[in-house]
Formats: sequence, C-alpha cells, structure tokens
Amino acid sequence: MNFTETEEQQALRRAVADLGRRYGHEYTAPRARAREPLSELWAEAGKSGFVGVNLPERYGGGGAGMSELAIVGEELNAAGCGLLMLVVSPAICGTIIARYGTDEQRRQWLPRLASGEAIMAFGITEPDAGSNSHRITTTARRDGADWLLSGRKVFISGVDQAQAVLVVGRTEDARTGRLKPALFVVPTDAAGFERTAIDMDVPMPDRQFQLFLDDVRLPGDALVGEEDAALAQLFAGLNPERIMAAAGSVGMGRYALDRAVSYAREREVWGTPIGAHQGLAHPLAKAKVELELAKLMAQKAASLYDSGDDMGAGEAANMAKYAAAEASIACVDQAVQTLGGNGLAHEYGLGSLITAARVPRIAPVSREMILNFVAQFSLGLPKSY
Ligand SMILES: Cc1cc2nc3c(=O)[nH]c(=O)nc-3n(C[C@H](O)[C@H](O)[C@H](O)COP(=O)(O)OP(=O)(O)OC[C@H]3O[C@@H](n4cnc5c(N)ncnc54)[C@H](O)[C@@H]3O)c2cc1C
Repeated sequence: MNFTETEEQQALRRAVADLGRRYGHEYTAPRARAREPLSELWAEAGKSGFVGVNLPERYGGGGAGMSELAIVGEELNAAGCGLLMLVVSPAICGTIIARYGTDEQRRQWLPRLASGEAIMAFGITEPDAGSNSHRITTTARRDGADWLLSGRKVFISGVDQAQAVLVVGRTEDARTGRLKPALFVVPTDAAGFERTAIDMDVPMPDRQFQLFLDDVRLPGDALVGEEDAALAQLFAGLNPERIMAAAGSVGMGRYALDRAVSYAREREVWGTPIGAHQGLAHPLAKAKVELELAKLMAQKAASLYDSGDDMGAGEAANMAKYAAAEASIACVDQAVQTLGGNGLAHEYGLGSLITAARVPRIAPVSREMILNFVAQFSLGLPKSY
C-alpha cells in the first residue's frame, strides 16, 4: 500500500493547478451566472492532454487511469473552475467506448473525446424512473439494419456542448417482449432528437436538458457493446462517474476551505484574527479532517478501478461519492459562516457554492441510494425497497 502519489501524478497535479489558477473563480463566476460553459478552459485542458488523460494512448489519450483524471477534476475544482463534463465525456462515455466499443467506435470517438474537440453527454435519468433505473422505458426497435429509438430523458448535462449523447435505453426483445438495457451513441443533430433546457436554480456553467427522442433513426453500429451485457458495460462507466463526482467535491471543498482559512487568518474583530476563536477553528478543522478522509476513499476507489477490480471499486466509489459530497457541503457551509456577511457577497465566490455543493448529494446517484447500497451489499442487510 502506497499513500504517496507518483512523480508523474504530482507533476500532473501541479500542471493542472497552474492551469486552474490562470482561469479560477473570476473566470467561472460570470459563466455560472449566465449558465454558459467554460469552453476556453475546456479547449486548453484538452490541448494539454488533461481531458483525455485516462483514455488509451493508441487513440490519442494519455494512457493513464481514473486516478489521473480524478486529479484533473479535483485540481480544477480546487481552483474554482471545475469542468462538469469531465465527469461525463472522458470518464463515463470514454471509458465505456474504450472498454466495450467496436474498433470503429473507438476510432471515431476516442481521439476527439481525448482532445476535447468532441464532447459526449450521458443520458440515463428519466422522468418516470428517477433513481430506479430499472424502470427506464426509452426503447430501441430494429428497423432493417437500423435502430429506431424513442423515449424521454431528464436532467441531462451539457447536451448543448455535445456532439452526441450516450443514451441508456432498452431493446425490444422480439421473442418475449421483455426489454433489456442497451447503450446507444445518439448524435445531437439526429432527426427526431429534441432538447429543452431546464431552468435549474444552480449557478453552474453547464446546463441540464430534457430530451425527447421520437423514432430517432440510428445505424446498426450505434449500439455500444453487446445487447445482453449492457448492465456490466453501464457499471464500467458508472464507477468512473462516481469517482469523478467525489474528486470534484473534494476540489470544491478545498476551494471553500482555502478561502475560509485565509480570511480567518486576517480578519480581526476582537483584536485577534477570528481564526483564533475555537468556535471557528474547530469546525474548519473538522471540515478538513472529513475532506481528507473522503479524498483518501476517492483515491482508493480510483486505484481499485485502475487495477481492474470493478467490484471493489464499486463499493469504494459509492462510499467516496457519499463522503466527498457530505464533506464538501460542510466545507462550503463553514466557509460561508467564517466570512460572515462576505460569505454571501459575490466578490468572495462562496455563496454560489451553497447550491452547487449540493448537486453531488443528489447526482449522479443520491445520498439515500448510496446508503441503500451500503446497507444491502456492504452490511448484508435486507433490501429495503
Ligand atoms: C445538476 C444535475 C446534473 C445531472 N446530470 C445528469 C446527466 O448528465 N445525466 C443523467 O442521466 N442524469 C443527470 N442528473 C440526474 C440525477 O442523476 C438524478 O437527479 C438522480 O439520480 C436522482 O434522481 P431523481 O432526481 O429522479 O430523484 P428521485 O429518484 O425521484 O428521488 C427523490 C428523492 O427520493 C429518494 N429516494 C428514491 N428512492 C429511494 C429509496 N429506495 N430509498 C430512499 N430514498 C429514496 C432520493 O434519494 C431523493 O432524495 C443530473 C441531476 C442534476 C441535479
């Protein structure tokens, strides 16, 4: 067991932190208010090899793993300029295509996903299914060599930036009428594909969309991997998603804590810096402890994933996502409190994080669904729902 990052990982961390410093919260804040993506940062991160650091070298990626992509996600968030689509495009979609796509799908998508020139969104959530993905009804039926895909999705991030969405649907099983999960690459300019932006109350650059798919005609090779093995393929992408959500939360928590600590060292209202009062110092220290613990679990999850242990990574990734979301919410809350009125002043960049920090408590999988997973699979308790 080794708790020290390699020299390459440390160098990556420094390089991403440098990039993040050049953009920072000042760049992000107006975009978050206007709900416009951080396109320049995305392009530069892509050119620098950061977006595709986890993708295979032979398809233009960095040939590293989720540990490295998590470093990218954490450091950008720690600089106040997190890129949400890192969670989706290289982590979920890139991973699934790299592991299960055909050679043609790999050639077509991976180099552009790695360079950041193309973005692929990911659509699993449906209005009538929610957390219960077994109830999704988006259905693909064969029409000659093609597929016709119909259904509805909700809360899908970054569709306006994406060239395609990796849609989780089901194929119509001709023999039994039963439906099976299957993954399709759906171009965002396909006929019958419509999107509507959802008016979210979260100040973050990337927008969420409702999707309406009405007999979208797809070529036979739009299906990623096997029809019958799609559940395993899906999970191969969901663990990286959770690891990235955890890394992003850790970064956001660091950002908030950094602001709080530098303020608490300087601000005096009773003749000593407010950080000398244990009423502030202890909750900040507690937030730091919880953040470091969450980071450790996220690193364990990434390390297990990179070693090929999907099952072990699944449990750790769920726990890391839970712990990091909670730790980040606590960091932001205490940071706002530490700055008093300034905690809610736009200039200090913390007020907007109050809602943004809550996103990972809900997405990609809610706090309650993780507790259900841990209760059932880690503790062996009966399934409760
Ligand atoms: C900012 C944002 C971005 C998103 N981006 C994407 C995206 O790119 N792609 C995508 O597919 N989805 C995306 N989502 C959707 C997200 O994954 C879902 O919101 C999430 O999975 C919860 O589903 P739901 O909103 O339908 O809540 P519901 O499933 O309706 O749950 C509502 C509440 O009930 C609780 N609950 C449900 N079932 C149980 C149970 N059995 N036991 C205990 N509690 C339960 C939940 O924990 C939650 O608190 C995004 C969401 C947000 C907010």
